[in-house]
This record gives sequence, C-alpha cells and structure tokens, in this order.
Amino acid sequence: MKEILIAGGGIGGLAAALALAQKGRKVRVLEKAAEFGEIGYGIQMGPNVSRMLERLGVLKTLEAAAVFPDALIFVDAVSNQELTRIALGTAFLKRFGHRYFVIHRRDLHGGLLEACKQRSEVVLESSRGVESFAQKSDAVTVVCENGVVYEGAALIGADGLWSPTRQAVIGDGAPRVAGHFVYRGVVPDDQIADRSRAGAMTIWGGPDLHLVQYRLQAGAVMNNVATIASRRFLRGEQNAGAPDELEEIFAGVHPGVRDNLRYVSRERNWVLHDREPAVNWTLGRVTLLGDAAHPTLQYLAQGAQMAIEDALVLAGKVAAAGEDYNRAFLAYQRERLNRTARVVLSSRFFGEWFHVGGGARDLRNELALQRDPDNPWEADWLYKGIEVDGNL
Ligand SMILES: Cc1cc2nc3c(=O)[nH]c(=O)nc-3n(C[C@H](O)[C@H](O)[C@H](O)COP(=O)(O)OP(=O)(O)OC[C@H]3O[C@@H](n4cnc5c(N)ncnc54)[C@H](O)[C@@H]3O)c2cc1C
Repeated sequence: MKEILIAGGGIGGLAAALALAQKGRKVRVLEKAAEFGEIGYGIQMGPNVSRMLERLGVLKTLEAAAVFPDALIFVDAVSNQELTRIALGTAFLKRFGHRYFVIHRRDLHGGLLEACKQRSEVVLESSRGVESFAQKSDAVTVVCENGVVYEGAALIGADGLWSPTRQAVIGDGAPRVAGHFVYRGVVPDDQIADRSRAGAMTIWGGPDLHLVQYRLQAGAVMNNVATIASRRFLRGEQNAGAPDELEEIFAGVHPGVRDNLRYVSRERNWVLHDREPAVNWTLGRVTLLGDAAHPTLQYLAQGAQMAIEDALVLAGKVAAAGEDYNRAFLAYQRERLNRTARVVLSSRFFGEWFHVGGGARDLRNELALQRDPDNPWEADWLYKGIEVDGNL
C-alpha cells in the first residue's frame, strides 16, 4: 500500500498521522517550518478530546504534564462579580467521563510528536512546504516549495488557517477577519497579584473584551490571554487592535481586572479569523482536516480539539474503506461537517456573549446568574464527545 501524505505537522496533522498509523497505514508528514513545534502558550482540553487522546495512547503522558482546574468561572469584567461557573469535580467527571485539563501547547504537540516518532509507519519531514498537488486514478503527486516531489495514495491537508491545500480543494480565498485581537503572556505564578481564583480557568467578559487566566506546568506559571473586539476595525481605521486600543478598551473595566493586563506582552498580537462552515472538504483523494477545514474563533476553546476528533474519525473511515480514499473522505466529512460547523457558529455566539455591553450585558448577567453550576447541560453536545468506529 502506498503511503498517505499529510501536509502540516501541527496538532491536527500529528494526530492524524498517529491515528492512521494505529490503523496500520504508512504516513508521511510534510511540515513547512524548519522544525516541528508549537508556540509557548497554554491550551484548554475538554473531556470530549480526552477520549480521543486516550485512543491515541497519549492521554496519560499528557495528563502528567497538565493542570486540572477546579472550575470554569465566568466573571463580569466591569463589576468583577462572579456570574456563573462549571464545577470540574466528581459530578463533571461522572457526566462527561473525563476531566477538563489545560496544558502548555509544547507539551501537547511534543506528546503527539514523540508518539509519532515511536511508530515505524510515520515519517516526519520538516522544511517541506506543500505547494501544489496533482491527482491520477490511483495516486496523488505533491510538489513542495523546494521542488521535492512525493507520490502518495492520498493527501490530507492539515496545513492550518492559510492552507494552500484548501485553496486547491475549495478555492474560497482568505479566511474571514473577525476584527478581534489577542494578546498573550505566560508569567511566573507568584507574580499574580489576585490569587482568589488561581486554581480555576477564569474568563472575565466585558464590553468588547475578555480576559482568560489559568495555570500551567504544575502551577508554576500563569497563562494570560486578553482579547479585544476592535472598535477601530469596525470603523475601518488604522492601527486596529494596537496596544493602545487594548488599553483603551480595558479602561472601562474594574481596576482589579484591568491590572491583569500587565501579564500580557504588547510585542505581538494575534488577529483572529474563522470561516463560514463549508459543505465539502474533499476532492478525489484529497481532503482537509483541522483549521484547514474549519477554522474557528477560540471562544469555546475547541479548534485543536476538533482537529484531534477529525483525525480519529478520518482514520476510522480510511481503515473501513480499504484503498477507496474518496469514499473514506466523503464518509469522514459526512460525520464532521455539522459538528465542526456547530463549534464555529457557537464560538461566534460565545464571543458575543463575552463581549456584550449595555442592556445585552444586563440580560447576559441575569441569565448567567440563573444557571445551575452543577448542571452544565449546555455542554452535553460538545463534551459528551463523539463515537469513533461505533464506540463512544
Ligand atoms: C488565541 C487562541 C486560543 C486558542 N485556544 C484553544 C484552546 O484552548 N483549545 C483548542 O482546542 N484550540 C484552541 N485554539 C485553536 C487551535 O490553536 C487551533 O485550532 C489548532 O492549533 C489547529 O491545529 P491544526 O493542526 O489544524 O493547524 P495549525 O496548528 O495551524 O498547524 C498547521 C501546520 O501546518 C504547517 N503548514 C502551513 N502551511 C503548510 C504547507 N503549505 N505545507 C506543509 N505544512 C504547512 C504549519 O507550519 C503548521 O505546523 C486557539 C486558537 C487561538 C488563536
């Protein structure tokens, strides 16, 4: 059997390589960067993805590097009043089957990378930016930026937000700019002044902003993420999302909340994008996975988790379809299109929910205060996870 080619060695590409290797398929991962790696910040992992990581055989390793917050807490950034929480104790574990954890991205990516290196079926190649591909009846030929050519049985585009594979498959141009900007910072935990919620994953929501805080690396450091919905962007002005706009938008919140801005670096920001849900990700023997297929805003913290779910479903369909990759990929997308569309659209909604002001904020706060913290039924569709190969 010819090997399967994967464009992109991020979380999605590596999860796909591992899942396919477990099904006995040979895989070659072609990564554009000079080295396989991830950025130095945290990432949240819900119980839906733990099921997948367990199947990939990496959950124990990752949990050893993870932090388990005691609650997900939502706080009004203007008043600094806690509005609601999801307790992450035994009732949560019983309901969803796994705990909620947060982890350094390098530990997550590194755990997947190490597991791939242990598999003889997986070949990992860096400095291999995939530029184009061509198909014939029984193979896909991939051309990389440096002129190196590979022939494989199929190609999986796990090449991220700006995926060239997507452009060849769907051709829908650049992703949508949300007008939201993110500033991040990881600082030693003992520098954090307000320790009242330090054991939790806390989100403060305020007009056109929110702030996220949780501990990483056995509690040694605190991960801080400040997001603004840029007013300058809406007005079509220059310097949208610049550091002075971060200060400007946070000027209206409680001083104790605003104080947390000192933990985020002004040196870099991330411009957030997503896409409208697609109706197809597949062209012949080529399909898409992860952000290449369904980039989402981070407000449900599910982008990477969806990529990992994709990987397991994809591998199951490939194993079931023998060498009929088109059939496998169509079956894969049938199972994934609506679930990932729901994440993309719900994430937009949650962004609004975090960022509202005026009367909408009053309504949000009233509804949030009415929630039962021990009955997070709203998360059932997401956290209860998916079936893979007919099993939960
Ligand atoms: C602020 C923020 C917070 C987030 N928080 C969370 C969270 O808490 N939980 C969560 O689940 N998700 C979160 N996400 C989303 C998550 O980071 C992404 O969904 C996830 O990283 C997507 O993984 P991927 O492998 O599909 O794409 P990527 O991580 O983008 O990986 C793509 C890989 O492909 C490579 N590549 C690019 N072009 C080519 C090419 N032509 N050829 C070969 N290789 C190529 C890249 O170098 C990269 O290694 C967050 C996102 C943001 C912006």
